[in-house]
Amino acid sequence: MKKRILVYGHLNDSQLAQLNQDFEVIIFPDLTSIDDTAFRASLSGAHGLVGASLVITPELLDAAPHLETIATISVGYDNYPVEELTRRGILLCNTPDVLTETTADTGFLLIMAAARRAVELAELVKRGEWTRGIEPKYFGSDVHDKTLGMIGFGRIGAAVARRGALGFGMRILYSNASPKPELEAQLGAEHREMKTLLAEADIICVTVPLTTETEHLIDEQEFAQMKPSTIFVNIARGKVVNEAALIEALKMGQIQAAGLDVFEQEPLSPESPLLHMKNVIALPHIGSATHETRTAMAQRAVDNITLALRGEHPISLVNEEAWKPA
Ligand code: NAP
Repeated sequence: MKKRILVYGHLNDSQLAQLNQDFEVIIFPDLTSIDDTAFRASLSGAHGLVGASLVITPELLDAAPHLETIATISVGYDNYPVEELTRRGILLCNTPDVLTETTADTGFLLIMAAARRAVELAELVKRGEWTRGIEPKYFGSDVHDKTLGMIGFGRIGAAVARRGALGFGMRILYSNASPKPELEAQLGAEHREMKTLLAEADIICVTVPLTTETEHLIDEQEFAQMKPSTIFVNIARGKVVNEAALIEALKMGQIQAAGLDVFEQEPLSPESPLLHMKNVIALPHIGSATHETRTAMAQRAVDNITLALRGEHPISLVNEEAWKPA
């Protein structure tokens, strides 16, 4: 009997055909909650899950006694109870590398747009209010030659810094769990304690994963360290930043502007004060959302689950401890 995979993320026709060769595939195209009745009913016979954006709970795992592997279509895995999965021997696979450059592009898009006030001024043009040469009150800040402070210096952090150092002549500071001597040599990056980085950088970009340690890593006192001219960008996860503190820092002029791809609650509430601030650029979590990259991520998830359910080591395994070679 074929193993069963429940798919609740977007896969293209050829990816679905690949899975159908070996597995029984049930698709949930519009799944928004793990409490969906049909999804729940299918879980009891499921060996694999492929998707993203849903929070997977231990209670859901109880309903899936045959589950062997989850392939998330994302690099971040903060929606998954990793220790619990490992305890149950369930593999968790993710999609690193294939989205690094696209997410770094999004980071730089936000840096540029926030520094040069691109969205605010494009809206002014659309409203027909461009009636003469732009006055100093609409001037932005330079990005080239400035100091870029990276909080998190892994794959995506390094890719943002590479753009800054090699493309824009920026000086790179970083704060990270471990030192990165190779990147220091390649990019001239300098390690700083976070407190020092916050005070020294002109532009700050957050790329740490969301964990119990990084939740609200950037809070009231961190914003208080920043310069009033700081451009603050978050492309990691919303909960890494205390959003109320960010809103207050923007209101008080503690920082100049924010470029945000991620929020504490997603989708962002239409009531959020962030939406009424001209110096905030809010994107709907599109870090990796290009045709090319989402296709590559889905393919990685398909390859991961195919390998894992065949008993072979998947390409990208989060919980190596759960791997038991046949
Ligand atoms: P990565 O290569 O694992 O990089 C994460 C970096 O953060 C690592 O260098 C790690 O240090 C560091 N770090 C972890 N915990 C830390 C802490 N407590 N304090 C300081 N540094 C810490 O991951 P990545 O591929 O760059 O992805 C990073 C995150 O970006 C993902 O987890 C995801 O949440 C987010 N993301 C968002 C989007 C989007 O659509 N906006 C897209 C993709 C990814 P070590 O090097 O010492 O391990």
